[in-house]
Amino acid sequence: MKLTIVGSGYVGLVAGTCFADSGNDVICVDVDAAKIRTLNAGKIPIYEPGLEELVHKNVREKRLSFSTDLANAVGQSEVVFIAVGTPEGENGDADLKYVLNAAEQVGKALKRYTIIVDKSTVPVGTADRVRETVAKVTDQPFDVVSNPEFLKEGAAIDDFLKPDRVVIGTNSEHARRIMAELYQPFVRTENPIIVMDPASAEMAKYAANAILATRISFINEIANLCEAWGADVEQVRRGIGADVRIGRSFLFPGLGFGGSCFPKDLAALQAMGQQRGVPTEVISAVQSVNRRQRQVLLAKVMKHFGGSLKGLSIAVWGLAFKPCTDDMRESAALTIIEGLLDAGAKIRAYDPVAGQHAREIFGNRIELCEIDYDCLTGADALVVVTEWNEFRQPDLEKMRTLMRQPVIFDGRNIYDPERLGRLGFTYYAMGRPSPRSRRAT
Ligand code: NAD
Repeated sequence: MKLTIVGSGYVGLVAGTCFADSGNDVICVDVDAAKIRTLNAGKIPIYEPGLEELVHKNVREKRLSFSTDLANAVGQSEVVFIAVGTPEGENGDADLKYVLNAAEQVGKALKRYTIIVDKSTVPVGTADRVRETVAKVTDQPFDVVSNPEFLKEGAAIDDFLKPDRVVIGTNSEHARRIMAELYQPFVRTENPIIVMDPASAEMAKYAANAILATRISFINEIANLCEAWGADVEQVRRGIGADVRIGRSFLFPGLGFGGSCFPKDLAALQAMGQQRGVPTEVISAVQSVNRRQRQVLLAKVMKHFGGSLKGLSIAVWGLAFKPCTDDMRESAALTIIEGLLDAGAKIRAYDPVAGQHAREIFGNRIELCEIDYDCLTGADALVVVTEWNEFRQPDLEKMRTLMRQPVIFDGRNIYDPERLGRLGFTYYAMGRPSPRSRRAT
């Protein structure tokens, strides 16, 4: 099939590449000419494991191309995906200006019957607004389908190629058939394509993100209770996760969730509630627990150092909002580093791939290191913000000799408290008892 993907960001680029890889002819379009130049030069503007190889393969085999010429791409396509950003608007609602602008441009470019797919995460009712927007500027026949995306950054290719389910929101039998055909290569293991009305498909995406975010805030609240009462949340997590009704995923205590999706999607759900007078108390609580959780770690740092960090050097490991991505949108690192800087600390930070974004955000207010151990030299403490695999089993002896004070604040519970205590570290985790350092330092 001939496809256009409007918006070549984390979702559009992955979706376009995966559709090309199953044999379709795909043009990924973006308004950002620099991004398209980068892609046409064979470089990938984002870090996503496996993406570069797959892009190169499909460009080489001439199924995937990149362009700023939306009209030309849409004019030759049977299906057009809109995968542009839907950031939080001024009132917390999803700002649809990019989606509706894309819809209008797509409408003007239609040359025959075309299926227009909302891939972006959009509030209930957006499929109707897209339909109205397109109908105003074209006489060509078209259908609008809601097809929310459930991939997660860091494992996006795998998620797209092997989705747990595909949700298709449409009232058109013809559009349903084409969409099912398009997704067939990805559901060969019998994972379902679930067809529903567009409004339910739109809500399904928000509901999925909201329940995942709820689990994170829930376990963080339990972690704080554990800490106050001397229980270990890691034991508690294992104790509850084994129950099949509960399950093990998304129950990892830490610094809470960040990223471009959960925070804005919760805000959008709340806005939907406000617009129709429906209370959304669970969602409000999930948000406030999440905001507070970053302060929990900062409070531990302040308490340990007696209320001031003036003259102290703090090492930070991890800047991305989660491992395996360079995305720093709403990352816990932003709040934590600002808090540490406000308290007078000097920051030396390391992230395997997000350094460039951090440089754009913080400029010379923090020092970025090329190697993880480099930021430990002379450090008064290490704060672990993102649980990259390479931080899990570091050379702890070497770390202790590099640091001025062997103090670790572990925001992701990646170390064994007993072991850290034995090696002479003062160790703070989230929701776990802190062992006293047992080694003379
Ligand atoms: P992104 O910011 O990485 O990419 C959006 C792209 O759209 C940008 O490159 C921008 O230049 C481009 N764009 C904007 N207007 C355009 C137009 N009129 N024509 C062509 N290009 C245009 O965003 P993203 O992270 O890929 O997210 C896109 C949507 O998918 C959002 O609604 C998001 O909530 C949803 N989503 C994201 C993820 C994720 O993990 N990032 C997962 C599932 C769903």
